[in-house]
Amino acid sequence: MEKKQFQAESKRLLDLMINSIYTHREVFLRELISNASDAIDKIYYKALTDDTLRFDQDSYYIKVEADKENKTLKIMDTGIGMTKEELENNLGVIAKSGSLAFKSENELKDGYDIIGQFGVGFYAAFMVADVVTVISKALGSDEAYKWESEGADGYTIELCQKDSVGTEVILKIKENTEEDRFDEFLEEYRLKEIIKKYSDFIRYPIKMDVTVSKPKEDNDNEYVDFVEEQIINSMVPIWKKNKSDLTDEDYEKFYQEKRYGFDKPLKTIHTNVDGAIRYNAILFIPENIPFDYYSKEYEKGLELYSNGVLIMNKCADLLPDYFSFVKGMVDSEDLSLNISREMLQHDRQLKRIEKNINKKIKSELLSLMKNDREKYEKFFNSFGRQLKYGVYSDFGTHKEVLQDLLMFYSSKEKKLITLDEYVLRMPEEQKYIYYATGESNERIEKLPQTELVADKGYEILYFTDEIDEFAIRMLMNYKEKEFRSVSSGDLGIEEDQTDSAEESNENEDLFEKMQNILAGKVKNVRISKRLKTHPVCLSTDGEISIEMEKVLNAMPDNQGIKADKVLEINPHHEVFEALKSAFEKDQEKLALYTNLLYNQALLIEGLPIQDPVEFTNDICKVMV
Ligand code: ADP
Ligand code: MG
Repeated sequence: MEKKQFQAESKRLLDLMINSIYTHREVFLRELISNASDAIDKIYYKALTDDTLRFDQDSYYIKVEADKENKTLKIMDTGIGMTKEELENNLGVIAKSGSLAFKSENELKDGYDIIGQFGVGFYAAFMVADVVTVISKALGSDEAYKWESEGADGYTIELCQKDSVGTEVILKIKENTEEDRFDEFLEEYRLKEIIKKYSDFIRYPIKMDVTVSKPKEDNDNEYVDFVEEQIINSMVPIWKKNKSDLTDEDYEKFYQEKRYGFDKPLKTIHTNVDGAIRYNAILFIPENIPFDYYSKEYEKGLELYSNGVLIMNKCADLLPDYFSFVKGMVDSEDLSLNISREMLQHDRQLKRIEKNINKKIKSELLSLMKNDREKYEKFFNSFGRQLKYGVYSDFGTHKEVLQDLLMFYSSKEKKLITLDEYVLRMPEEQKYIYYATGESNERIEKLPQTELVADKGYEILYFTDEIDEFAIRMLMNYKEKEFRSVSSGDLGIEEDQTDSAEESNENEDLFEKMQNILAGKVKNVRISKRLKTHPVCLSTDGEISIEMEKVLNAMPDNQGIKADKVLEINPHHEVFEALKSAFEKDQEKLALYTNLLYNQALLIEGLPIQDPVEFTNDICKVMV
């Protein structure tokens, strides 16, 4: 028989195909099944326009058969088949897609999601097979043909016998080598796994003969093996079903099957978009924090399908970092795929989908906040930190998107509140949104610095996450209200201004002396406007707060950034009198008192004392 040559370019292309296009060999099966599905789509389409054909659901299917003994794998379909010419043109010319041509010849519009377009998928078979045989009988033809090829050498075509219309692709699976195992592609479990992974939502049944063990009829303890024909794929993807036909359990099952998490979804977002860009998406917000979530190992991303065929396991481009906790999938027919269907060109469609999804997640979170506060709080306790990182990251670019989703613990409500709720409740004369930072709500509650603000009846937000103050600094203001730490120099509360000014003038020398005693430790000593009952506290001038100093210095690349600390003294506290008299009579005592008060302020702030032994000795000195 005459051997026909692939076209010259085709030869090189075939080499390229076999050796370098795909990273995972297993996708050969995805490609062959996709072709089979396309072939059935075509006969289905013909049946719609040709009365002599009837499309009977049951007689259209794909079957995968492994023969371990002969090391062959057969993929057969009851699709439209190929004529001799079509075998030559479609399989003999690489990069020629009969499917693409079919689409344009028949002006197929929406609903016919033919997968093929590049005319290369078929050759993926040579990644796992030495010989590929295609036996096909075209619709309306009396003859069947056999096409056979051993790869780059070329192919043969001859007449053969086949009763029914359709195609069989038979792969002679390669022998194992030292590095590579090929016989896995003859294993039942492996084939099922691959079909499930890539072709679960092919619209036609993918059948396989599967060995199952069943108890014997007369004896429950003895098992016999049966061969049973099973349908491996689920066919209709859940995301193409009607939302009204789906229950919470259906979504939960999908979540678990897909191994999005070991928990349940806290919130499910199912969206079908049919506009300038078309896609279906099912997105989940997990109930619990994935164990590796706040670690480097965590990989964000959504599964990406094109027409029900899996393209990518984790498409990171679909999720911004601040929503990296979202799990789920997107299926779109409008994607421009690259030839291996592995990576996407970073195209406009994908960007658009990302933008849409982003908006959708935000609006769903807002509606959850509004309609199911308890659930939203649960969500926020798990992933709120990520949102706050989002506000802080990229120089605050995302703050507009995220600020309404934030929550902080409120001194008044004793629970999480939103910034909007805070601002709505602000009395007219209140200038700033106040916050206090600390290790825990309990500790912040007791901070002396909160006294004046709390006394005024103003609400204070408690910041207990390291990121909080950084995020807020990035936000700067909310609804035109600036944020202000209760420890900051200016609280914007006009009170006893003149009073304290006078006191300051009067005691200038005392404070200067104290400042000298604490040289290098505090930048300033002054009368406090914020203290009511406590004797001392620390506050800061400038941009860096004490809490920020703590965080920055805990970082590996810390640059020893220091907050400008101020020791504030309550002029109405008895201690102040003691200081004044020591200043007049006993300089040594003044030094002792000053150091004691400074160390107390450090302790209150949760900062370490430089010399705890000296501190305790100082206390004893005062006692005796
Ligand atoms: P693509 O699917 O992107 O068009 P392929 O290399 O996978 O490229 O297939 C090339 C062409 O061969 C298809 O477009 C189709 O016309 C034809 N073909 C492949 N497999 C089959 C099949 N099982 N039944 C009918 N036609 C097929
Ligand atoms: Mg194909």
